[in-house]
Amino acid sequence: MFKTEYVKNVFENLKNKNSNEKEFLQAAEEILTSLEEVAVKRPEIQEKKVLERFLEPERFVQFRVAWVDDAGNVQVNRGYRVQYNSAIGPYKGGIRFHPSVNASIIKFLGLEQILKNSLTGLPMGGGKGGSDFDPKGKSDREVMAFCQAFMTELYRHIGEDTDVPAGDIGVGGREVGFMYGQYKRIVNKSVGVLTGKGLSFGGSLARTEATGYGLCYFTEEALKTIKKDSFKGKTVVISGSGNVAIYACQKATQLGGKVVAMSDSNGYVYDPNGINLDVVKQIKEVERKRISEYVQRVQGATYTPNCKDIWSVKCDIALPCATQNELDLDAAKKLVANGVIAVCEGANMPSTIDACKYFIDNKVVFGPAKASNAGGVATSGLEMCQNSMRYSWTFEEVDAKLKDIMTNIFHNIHNTAVKYDNEFDLLKGANIYGFEKVCDAMLAQGIM
Ligand code: NDP
Repeated sequence: MFKTEYVKNVFENLKNKNSNEKEFLQAAEEILTSLEEVAVKRPEIQEKKVLERFLEPERFVQFRVAWVDDAGNVQVNRGYRVQYNSAIGPYKGGIRFHPSVNASIIKFLGLEQILKNSLTGLPMGGGKGGSDFDPKGKSDREVMAFCQAFMTELYRHIGEDTDVPAGDIGVGGREVGFMYGQYKRIVNKSVGVLTGKGLSFGGSLARTEATGYGLCYFTEEALKTIKKDSFKGKTVVISGSGNVAIYACQKATQLGGKVVAMSDSNGYVYDPNGINLDVVKQIKEVERKRISEYVQRVQGATYTPNCKDIWSVKCDIALPCATQNELDLDAAKKLVANGVIAVCEGANMPSTIDACKYFIDNKVVFGPAKASNAGGVATSGLEMCQNSMRYSWTFEEVDAKLKDIMTNIFHNIHNTAVKYDNEFDLLKGANIYGFEKVCDAMLAQGIM
């Protein structure tokens, strides 16, 4: 699969050292495939072992998190933080609470985060963290007890100029609030050490909406530039019904699209009249229930108890916003056969390598996650700015900056893709554009 001995050897060594980490190896393979030509053009990359250093995290911390549940039983979970690369700024990246979390998932997310943060144009390095704790079905007190225990270890590794975590799957405003409270209690300082905070204690307006809105701004700009088209009048399918999916649905609708399907990990709902987002928000954000409830509340909607089947719903635009590897080659073929014109990723690595390639080969406007979902971390960067200034911007100010950042990301990676001869290969454009800045910083800072 690799054309040069150098990159082939880098990947073989990585495989030997991390043989049981399939998500991590998948992300590394995808990135290395795009970077091969850059490594040929720039001999210093091989001489100074930049790819080897780039793929090895600066630090990886694993820790015990012990807490007491409502029945008085002691529970033990595993916590992680990878501080992957600080060449262009303090480590920055979310925290995921989900039973599937392991070292491989944290490392794939951290590696992707380095390039994503570079694409935003803001000075942020890459990191990621999480735990195999499952917030689903837990009481508020149990979630608080877990978050406090998690931060009691994590606090010593982070700081507003060192490493600034945020939310991800299973970590929203409630969890960030509990973790921030515990950090403040331990270090006795009110600083912007976490982003995604509540508005009354340093959070930024528009952070909640940012990833979903940013995804749609990116998609709109890509459609306009590559296909001379827009969201207007288009049928849209969005997987997931969490933070990213909900605000992608809101913005896609505002831009004139009709969202007809959404999902959770149990199944998907189809509503030919267009998803009623107020109902979804009530079910998922307020009641924390299953998406299947939707059909009890909205006439004409149907429920299918298989979330992967959502990709067989005919649509013009597909926005995968649930989780990694949720869209495989089979699903990609169904989408293309049904006439999809754009697939832009809201989740991290939702499409398998084969699926990405299929979209690019079939001239679908394909927005790779590290570019199209960068609006969340970009707005987290804006939250860090506001915290440092002890000042807050209005919703409109943050939203306008977000839109600017997403538009710039699209044009930077599109121009790079064009330079490398295929304007549809935005994945390669994103990997190369994001990497070169980090590479230059690593070379300038010496061997470390
Ligand atoms: P949430 O926890 O708010 O929502 C996650 C959604 O995905 C839920 O609908 C959940 O369903 C579904 N889901 C989770 N795991 C699976 C699975 N194994 N199979 C199928 N569906 C699943 O998370 P977010 O919306 O914040 O994150 C979604 C994706 O976006 C993730 O990949 C995340 O890394 C990425 N992302 C998030 C950002 C943010 O700002 N929040 C920023 C950039 C990327 P259920 O309720 O059944 O679990």
